[in-house]
Amino acid sequence: MKKLAAGNWKMNGLEATLAEIDALASAHPAPGCDVLICPPATLLSRLSARAEGTAIATGAQDCHPNESGAHTGDVSAGMIADAGGAYVIVGHSERRADHGESDAVVRAKAEAAWRAGLIAIICVGETLDERDAGRTLDIVGGQLAGSIPDGATAANTVVAYEPVWAIGTGKVPTLAEIGEVHDDIRARLSARFSGEAAGMRLLYGGSVKPSNAAEIFGVSNVDGALVGGASLKAADFGGIVGALA
Ligand code: PEP
Repeated sequence: MKKLAAGNWKMNGLEATLAEIDALASAHPAPGCDVLICPPATLLSRLSARAEGTAIATGAQDCHPNESGAHTGDVSAGMIADAGGAYVIVGHSERRADHGESDAVVRAKAEAAWRAGLIAIICVGETLDERDAGRTLDIVGGQLAGSIPDGATAANTVVAYEPVWAIGTGKVPTLAEIGEVHDDIRARLSARFSGEAAGMRLLYGGSVKPSNAAEIFGVSNVDGALVGGASLKAADFGGIVGALA
């Protein structure tokens, strides 16, 4: 399976930031992994145009479950595809926390993504309290069961394991902790999706940087990374792409 380095710019990026794409593309003209940037919605169309002819795919950070209608401020999966996106992140912990998104909402968004021909990156992960209470596998297992729709395939779904306490904090689980969760995710996906599960990419996310990427990518069932802060600068993200390739 081709591994994936996915960058989530979150609510960062203006016209001038697009220059990072040029730098990333020239440093990695033929990467050995898939490379994805999910800018804010305002930049998706421009970034997609700028990335044309490079190995960089583009995507969005969220979508509405509906195709169109009276949903002020929202963006549909079809609009993302129309703007050149190929992927959409759904169920990021910041959306679950800031917008009260439940597993059912995340599942509906993933289905909307598929209807528009997008690949859904479905995010799961425990809080620090949940980890300290020894509930990590139960919490992540529940999120997987509730957030991934029936019909998930290796081609339409990527799963991102992102411990909430590791996002943007500089704290990273041990390699053994990452491996334990990724092995458990693979086992749960195999039980539900049989042969398709082996090809579904499982990303680790949470304070991945060039300096820790190689060791994280060496963990079993880690098929890439979802990267926030370190995706904003081509030099940092390029280091992560290089570690995956
Ligand atoms: C993320 O938001 O998906 C993320 C992993 O952020 P960071 O890399 O900054 O921890």
